[in-house]
Amino acid sequence: MESLKVPYGLEDSGQLVTAAKAQKNKTYFCPNCNSQLVRRAGEVKVKHFAHPSSSNCSQESILHITAKKLTESAIRSNSLSQIEITLQSDCYQCGVQFNTTLPFGTFTSAAQEVAVASYVCDVVGYRSGGTSLGIEIFHTHEVDGAKATDLPIPWIELKAEDVINDPHHWKPTQSKLKSSFCSGCRSHIKHVQSVANRWNIDSSLYTPIKKASLANYVADVETCFRCKEVVPVFWWKGVPFCEQEPPHPRPKTIKYRNSKKYGGSYWANTCANRNMIKGDNYLFLFDDAPFKNMPMSESEKEQDGGLVKVATGDEAISEMMKVIKRNFS
Ligand SMILES: [Zn+2]
Ligand SMILES: [Zn+2]
Ligand SMILES: [Zn+2]
Repeated sequence: MESLKVPYGLEDSGQLVTAAKAQKNKTYFCPNCNSQLVRRAGEVKVKHFAHPSSSNCSQESILHITAKKLTESAIRSNSLSQIEITLQSDCYQCGVQFNTTLPFGTFTSAAQEVAVASYVCDVVGYRSGGTSLGIEIFHTHEVDGAKATDLPIPWIELKAEDVINDPHHWKPTQSKLKSSFCSGCRSHIKHVQSVANRWNIDSSLYTPIKKASLANYVADVETCFRCKEVVPVFWWKGVPFCEQEPPHPRPKTIKYRNSKKYGGSYWANTCANRNMIKGDNYLFLFDDAPFKNMPMSESEKEQDGGLVKVATGDEAISEMMKVIKRNFS
């Protein structure tokens, strides 16, 4: 049996010390089973303490307990304004990865093995006011589905190896946190809201966040190619070239219009300034269209005895080509 590797050893004081920083005249112990560790003499840089193989100890337990202790002390350092913690998040809108620095005092204390509802969290960081963050550390077993949905507090899951590499940079592999936005999306969302306000669009009618599940209408902005004003434009379920009446209540700039190019009438975005129709191709279909990545009703739906037939695959593409051709010939 191969000997176990211990990245951090416990000092007499209870502090964790990396093998690289261990002093020759001190004794270090396994954070899991407390057996005495060996730091090979003669080597300048050592990544691990050596730990004789043992039936009371395992590599998984060593990594788990070390990562838990490191996470708890990272939270303590944050509460004592000593070391900053950065949290890696994915932007809720564009998906880009970005880091947020948790300000000093984000947490007021920390504890290990805390009962939360019917579960036990590896580490909990407390904030003044009582709200807290649960942290699950995993080596081989990720947080299971039931716990992920049932845990009644915000939580993140961290990989033991990641915590050991850098306890102050959290890279969650799963999480339940308030949605966060990268700085680009944050300022774009504010811009969309201010443009919509300027043109007196009721803010309860739409979301400025590009998620179909959040509201009937998703807003963005466009510079009108005729009047050059920056005006609000909207996506809803049914675009492009939506012939069915969109849901009520709706932004006042969405109007049922006749289009010669289209060869009929459909519900269209219009310029808030001059009332002119804004082409659906420019809003929804072209590569640089503001709603390019939103779900599109790709085909003409044929109502047949209450059944809605939606084209898929090649059929959908040929339907899409028809729609495009109809607008350019
Ligand atoms: Zn051990
Ligand atoms: Zn973003
Ligand atoms: Zn205009």
